[in-house]
Amino acid sequence: MALSDFDYEYLQIYEDVFCKGAQVLTIDQLKEKKEDYKDSKYWIEAEILRVDTNKKFWYLACQACAKKVEVVEGIRTCSHCGVITDMDIYKYNVEVFVVDQTGNAKFGLWDEASRRLIGQSAEAVVALEGGVSVV
Ligand SMILES: [Zn+2]
Repeated sequence: MALSDFDYEYLQIYEDVFCKGAQVLTIDQLKEKKEDYKDSKYWIEAEILRVDTNKKFWYLACQACAKKVEVVEGIRTCSHCGVITDMDIYKYNVEVFVVDQTGNAKFGLWDEASRRLIGQSAEAVVALEGGVSVV
């Protein structure tokens, strides 16, 4: 039996996670950790019920650290490292509602996970929308 592209991608992500030593948790187990989950990596196998379409799913990113760039009076300044940029770099932050056998939650999918899900870069999607005016 041949693996589909999706199966192959799934297995590759699965192997990447386990090679990096991520712990497997259910949604309820993650919720029990409360603040202890920060700065840790976990593998949560869940089904995406829907994407939060009420929120913008991409942001203008810093060229140095990929964090969000704030635009004030046309000047783009990184909110994390302070770099001033004029580059059009976009990253995803897609929020999704997910469910597993123990509960449900809302997760943010960062750029790489969102790109895999959507199949295009954030730049390509922004371009499809006709570009962005940041002034
Ligand atoms: Zn930065």
